[in-house]
Amino acid sequence: MSEFISINGARENNLQDVTLRIPKGRLTVFTGVSGSGKSSVVFDTIAVESQRQLNETFTWFVRNRLPKYERPHADALEDLSPAIVVDQRPVGGHSRSTVGTMTDIHSVLRVLFSRHGAPSAGAATAYSFNDPSGMCPGCDGLGRKVQPGWDRILDPARSLAGGAVRFPPFAAGTWQGQAYTNTDELDPDKPVGDFTDAERTFLMRGRPGSKVTVNGTGGTWTTEYEGLADRFERLYLKRDLSAMSEKTRELVRRFLVEGDCPECGGARLNAAALATRIDGHSIADCSAMQVTDLIAVLRRIDDPVARPIAGAAVTALERVEATGLGYLSLDRETATLSGGEGQRLKTVRHLGSSLTGMTYIFDEPSVGLHPRDVGRLGDLLLRLRDKGNTVLVVEHDPDVIALADHVVDMGPGAGAGGGRVVFEGTPDELAGADTLTGRFLGRRTAVKEDPRTATGELWVKGAGRHNLRDVTVAFPTGVLTAVTGVAGSGKSTLVAELIAAHPDAVVVDQSSIGVSARSTPATYLGIMDTVRKIFARETGAEAGFFSFNSSGACGACEGRGIISTDLAFMDPVTTTCGDCDGRRFRDEVLRLTVDGSSIADVLAMTADQALDFFADTGVRRRLRALSDVGLTYLTLGQPLSTLSGGERQRIKLATRLHRTGAVYVLDEPTTGLHMSDVEGLLALLDRLVGTGNSVVVVEHNLDVVAHADWVIDLGPDGGRDGGRVIFEGTPRELLTARGSSTAEHLRRATR
Ligand code: ADP
Ligand code: ADP
Ligand code: ZN
Ligand code: ZN
Repeated sequence: MSEFISINGARENNLQDVTLRIPKGRLTVFTGVSGSGKSSVVFDTIAVESQRQLNETFTWFVRNRLPKYERPHADALEDLSPAIVVDQRPVGGHSRSTVGTMTDIHSVLRVLFSRHGAPSAGAATAYSFNDPSGMCPGCDGLGRKVQPGWDRILDPARSLAGGAVRFPPFAAGTWQGQAYTNTDELDPDKPVGDFTDAERTFLMRGRPGSKVTVNGTGGTWTTEYEGLADRFERLYLKRDLSAMSEKTRELVRRFLVEGDCPECGGARLNAAALATRIDGHSIADCSAMQVTDLIAVLRRIDDPVARPIAGAAVTALERVEATGLGYLSLDRETATLSGGEGQRLKTVRHLGSSLTGMTYIFDEPSVGLHPRDVGRLGDLLLRLRDKGNTVLVVEHDPDVIALADHVVDMGPGAGAGGGRVVFEGTPDELAGADTLTGRFLGRRTAVKEDPRTATGELWVKGAGRHNLRDVTVAFPTGVLTAVTGVAGSGKSTLVAELIAAHPDAVVVDQSSIGVSARSTPATYLGIMDTVRKIFARETGAEAGFFSFNSSGACGACEGRGIISTDLAFMDPVTTTCGDCDGRRFRDEVLRLTVDGSSIADVLAMTADQALDFFADTGVRRRLRALSDVGLTYLTLGQPLSTLSGGERQRIKLATRLHRTGAVYVLDEPTTGLHMSDVEGLLALLDRLVGTGNSVVVVEHNLDVVAHADWVIDLGPDGGRDGGRVIFEGTPRELLTARGSSTAEHLRRATR
């Protein structure tokens, strides 16, 4: 078997005949500016080809049921091993998917409780919230339940006659509302908040046999009194909401709240399962603890029969801790995890596997990690390698680059200006190499000496969400503020509180853009209308003809250029449309040109090339915004679905520039950025502040922290051990702060 993966003449996306030999059984890091072609080598060439070759080994019967991967553009790709991609796609999942189920630690706990808990509730499934024998009957194992929001429905300060019932169909004066104002049992003029327990119970639940007289169109009649709660539940909760009119549904929704299930208190399990204890803890208690605490509880188990199972759980939990996620609890729904947290949890699964001879591919695994935790992440990557696997990592973090056995530096620029291997060798050799990455590696971080002074303050007062401990803090306005702290310390939670307190904040995050498969930078920036009009004016054809969702579009792919096959259990697979060769339009449309370019040619232009092509000032202004955020290498027609999280965030920013007096909030904007791109980003943030805005970033990148005017550091640790502001001040003051990991790492970077 060869000791190298060999790539000859790779030409996927912007790659310019890339030829590479990647050592097997080693850790190789791919570096280079954003858009230089790292992903094109690692994901679009190596990962796709190994999946394709793997599929070829199956019989045609199986193959016909597998996704069809297109052979990547390359002369030869040889000696690949099966690849596993561990990326930052959201783990997502439904509400039954939790950290515990995803890592399989929940099933180990179930075995532990069914064999060694007392009293035992039965076989293992009796402790599973995904199984009828274990799930809480009140919420079917979901832990949460939609209930009437009584503080919205009833105003305790008012009397029944004075409008205490705020739900319009039951309000005083309506035919349904009469029951509550007319009953002899309640004083219609007494504020509901002053009711005795008995009166309140009667209002809500009534009493069998109790009657009330009401007036209707047909006259006056006496009927059974039905309690307010009983009536609301019967009419709106026990019925299928989808059978009601949209208007009614909207109305009812405003009076419903989702909260912990009252039967199980959110624990998802039935009473028998919850009664079982080990060392005084139920399985729900164990699932709600943060991982670091659960490890301590399980270590105390000394029953010789239970110990091995507890030990297995501890081993798995320690892997979670080692990825810097010790602050998570097993009952945390995976849908609420960030991309970086999800990627690290996926890694945990692979660390437990005994496969060897695989190729593991990671996409910027340091995202979301404080410099303090990057070391531990590196250990995990090395452990995967030492099991006999090849580990390929796309990364910008100098600490991860330093761990590599081999570095491949792509460049020299982005897009058409990149696509070549500019350096190959060890990290030490790279530090001396004359490439962008090489030059940046040896550089020291410089702390800002002349921070701007604030123009005012935005307060968050008494914040207590998640792990925040009654945090009161001022965010200065008119400056660049960095919110720092280890993962799980509460940065996102605090910033969410800031956004909630100041609704006019411009939030620029990495979440998906929520656009259709036909969306491109051109449609997203809003220049497509003008482009179509220019084409119509110059060619005499109808403007609609040049639209992806018109008769001018290729019929086979409906203007997408690609055909996407959705697979139930895997990521969808896309292939280029054979009818239009990915050009998205019909031939008649492609024959219509402006200055020699068809609409497809225009969509293949980068922002820079398009700036040379278009004279229209509106179009040019928007194209310049794209270069302002460092996305010059994107073509106008590249599907937005192919953008990374960092690129999505920057394209959003491009459409939200040019405001004044706004508060911009960005979550780790350096994601996907090379050290040299970070300079461009900082220049952009400076311009935003310079034009009268306030900018708040959640960041780990020490160059950004050092460049900020103000730093708010949370900690000291993650989860229960975090949630406090441990430092507020300028970066220079941070250098001398004690007890802060951020300060410690900033000191190291500036030395
Ligand atoms: P990196 O990983 O270094 O940031 P990429 O490999 O993602 O760079 O991108 C290299 C070039 O290929 C860029 O110009 C990018 O816009 C382009 N590119 C990447 N993916 C696609 C795609 N699916 N379709 C068209 N162009 C793409
Ligand atoms: P950071 O942004 O510093 O990584 P977070 O604000 O995401 O930290 O998390 C702070 C704490 O709040 C952690 O203990 C985390 O597990 C918890 N937390 C965050 N989001 C949620 C959520 N949606 N549900 C429950 N707990 C959460
Ligand atoms: Zn329940
Ligand atoms: Zn097509």
